[in-house]
Amino acid sequence: MTAPAAQPSPFDPAYAGQDGVQAPAHHPGWQPAVPACRLCGAQPAAAVAVRAHQGLLLMMRFHKIDGPFCRSCGTAVVRELTTKTLWQGWWSPFSLVFFSPFTLVWNLLASRKLAALPAPGPPALGAARVQEGKPVHRRPMAYVAIVPLIWAVWFITGMITHA
Ligand SMILES: [Zn+2]
Repeated sequence: MTAPAAQPSPFDPAYAGQDGVQAPAHHPGWQPAVPACRLCGAQPAAAVAVRAHQGLLLMMRFHKIDGPFCRSCGTAVVRELTTKTLWQGWWSPFSLVFFSPFTLVWNLLASRKLAALPAPGPPALGAARVQEGKPVHRRPMAYVAIVPLIWAVWFITGMITHA
């Protein structure tokens, strides 16, 4: 497996706010009556949180980004964090059997809530909308998830045939 390109992601906490992608909701005194997207300021937005999970041997990392998000930005965040979980989420025992499946189901429910929203209005003045990007099934890194799946099938088959 080749290492993925170390590209800064707009969803990494270290990257947030570095390039003026500051959410309009953070402007002092600006408080919308109806929830607006925290990334682009558009409405309508749904109050959902999106999660990512990383597991590596005994180390586990939980990452959660709270909304509200509009349909476009929310879809972008779901795709990014779901793909991350699909290739980084399997490499510790608890992650494999519990945390990553939970994270994927959580994001699936969040994406269904977002998909139910109408298309967002224009972004707030000065805010940039995050590109939705490719769907998860067209991101090669998502297919790393096949490795633990094959391992699980091999493990269970071994248990049955050696019993
Ligand atoms: Zn948005």
